[in-house]
Amino acid sequence: MSDATIIAGSQIKAAGALLSLLSAHPDLPAGIACLEKLQAGDRTPFEWGIVVRHHYSLSDFEQWRAALRFDSDRVALDTSDATTNWLQVKGSWRGVPVEMTGFFTFAEPTAAQVLTCHFCGTAKPDVEVAADPFAKEINDEEWLIPLCKDCYGDRCDEI
Ligand SMILES: [Zn+2]
Repeated sequence: MSDATIIAGSQIKAAGALLSLLSAHPDLPAGIACLEKLQAGDRTPFEWGIVVRHHYSLSDFEQWRAALRFDSDRVALDTSDATTNWLQVKGSWRGVPVEMTGFFTFAEPTAAQVLTCHFCGTAKPDVEVAADPFAKEINDEEWLIPLCKDCYGDRCDEI
């Protein structure tokens, strides 16, 4: 005799709940839905539930979270992976546990790097690391320094 939770019939309740979930919100964005063993609570046994994954937009995730009235305070954030992060919230629908995940890529904003010109001491966007034209022409030396456009021009004029 098979374990009652691993025969196909044990999935019917969750499959019915998935059908009713989609029927109740036919205009929301489609996620990737499947049936998996979930726990309704930390201490409850695993049972067949609905797993929905949103890979394209956190907006999709949020629309579903709001529609299902899953508490935003219970949304967990995972940023432990360097490239893929996710929000996840658990709840229930028609007595069936639901786990919803929204994947996204989180990138730390990078501050625009502004260099300071070696000659005029000014930090401005046109400062680039370049070979000093004077050192190159006069001393045949590749001296790489941050130079602004004006100072680059001045160094050229000095040759
Ligand atoms: Zn300068």
